Amino acid sequence: MPNHTPPVKMPVLFVGHGSPMNAIESNAFTRALEKLGRDLPRPRAICVVSAHWVTHGSQVLAAEWPRTIHDFYGFPKPLYEVQYPAPGAPEEAKRLAFEHHLAADQKWGLDHGAWSVLRHMYPEANVPVFQVSLDQTRTFAEHVALGRELQKMRERGILILGSGNLVHNLQKMNWELPHEAYPWATEFDLLVKGAIEQRDMEKLAEPGLWGPKLLAEAHPTLEHYAPILYCISATDADDRATYPYEGIEFGSVSMRTVLFQPATSHPE
Ligand code: ZN
Repeated sequence: MPNHTPPVKMPVLFVGHGSPMNAIESNAFTRALEKLGRDLPRPRAICVVSAHWVTHGSQVLAAEWPRTIHDFYGFPKPLYEVQYPAPGAPEEAKRLAFEHHLAADQKWGLDHGAWSVLRHMYPEANVPVFQVSLDQTRTFAEHVALGRELQKMRERGILILGSGNLVHNLQKMNWELPHEAYPWATEFDLLVKGAIEQRDMEKLAEPGLWGPKLLAEAHPTLEHYAPILYCISATDADDRATYPYEGIEFGSVSMRTVLFQPATSHPE
């Protein structure tokens, strides 16, 4: 039976994706993703903004059947064998590209920022997925402006999924500290959390205001930070943030996952 009920306004989700190995492991984080897949309203499509698609100029993946990209090196073979054969959402992608003067792309696919998360949330790969790239020529304020443009898609039943990490310093990772955090990692993670809760867009769009040294420690490069800007910009004052998963791993990677949804959809 076709379902003619109008789409519900979708939440917005930011996932701290961490190691690519999470794609094939089963742990507290991946179980939290499975639960989100079960509990969230079923999306008509998913729009992913991943730390792993950085381009010159904004692009939108408009492929009908996006390929699975294994964009990492030196991991065990089974990780390279994973396929996530979800359909694309070319109509939504082209509409977004047209309305906001972005380039429609056919060549990219789903990078691991997308599929390492989605294969836990929607293991049957039956929800259409497309991606919006991170344009490296944009300032943070310009990322925020594009994030605002994504907001309307929520009304059309599209889940906006940002995939990065709120703290991400691979050089400082310490494999002997799987569940511990450097003080600066905790500090930055909590500053971002506080700014999210206060909807302090000024600070979020200029994280150097928390101190350039702190920002450089938390993010030697900024691509894992940028996706949260798209998420928070796609929310409004009605949305409340909750944390389906949180914690810092290996000293320097925040796994904080942030779910934004209207206060009325919280069961209380
Ligand atoms: Zn990553």
